[in-house]
Amino acid sequence: MVESPAKKKHCCSVCAKPSETIICQRCEEKIRGEVVDKKRNIEKAGKTDSSH
Ligand SMILES: [Zn+2]
Repeated sequence: MVESPAKKKHCCSVCAKPSETIICQRCEEKIRGEVVDKKRNIEKAGKTDSSH
């Protein structure tokens, strides 16, 4: 099965599955969840790690 080059189909850059967007909704939600989790960890620490 060869995909036609004229038919430009986007693929998720995370799971490489056909998606209309750069990142499919599922991966986007996953990434968003990770970001939220990261933010929560920073808030939990009380301050950002700026003096690394
Ligand atoms: Zn994906």
